[in-house]
Amino acid sequence: MAFIDPDEDIYKTRCKPIIMANGFSEVGFLVNKEDFVMRVIFGTPASVMFPIDYILEMHKKFPGWINVLAHTHPCNFMSLSSEDDGTLKALAMAFYPYIIYMDVVCYTDLDDVIHKRYWYEIQPKDEWIAQGKGERKIVRHNRLIFEDHCEWKYRMLEFSHMGE
Ligand SMILES: [Zn+2]
Repeated sequence: MAFIDPDEDIYKTRCKPIIMANGFSEVGFLVNKEDFVMRVIFGTPASVMFPIDYILEMHKKFPGWINVLAHTHPCNFMSLSSEDDGTLKALAMAFYPYIIYMDVVCYTDLDDVIHKRYWYEIQPKDEWIAQGKGERKIVRHNRLIFEDHCEWKYRMLEFSHMGE
């Protein structure tokens, strides 16, 4: 089961049971800089495994081309799981100085669509060297996405609920 922030506990009890009960599986989309879906990954009800080797290979060939690792979560679970966070952190280090985003898309119990974006900001290399290396600062950020330009999020949700 996905990790839940304690302050998001409220969502557990309010979660729409019908969505949880009906064939939900997480689905992931690899999205490039032009908002084009490059890969669709079908997961399980609790997780989706992104093709890390493929992502790293693509990044090597076309740095910065892969922009977003998007995936669906069950109703109201808009926080990253600890696996999600580990994946994002590792890729953020590998992608530096390019930024890689991880997006979570889910329904709320009011049938709204929540779209939340996470990314890591890594301390610039020269600054890190200037401080004599040691621990490099890495900070996670997030923001809700309200712009409706990426219609792929609705397709991703449809794929997640296809079993209904
Ligand atoms: Zn997740």
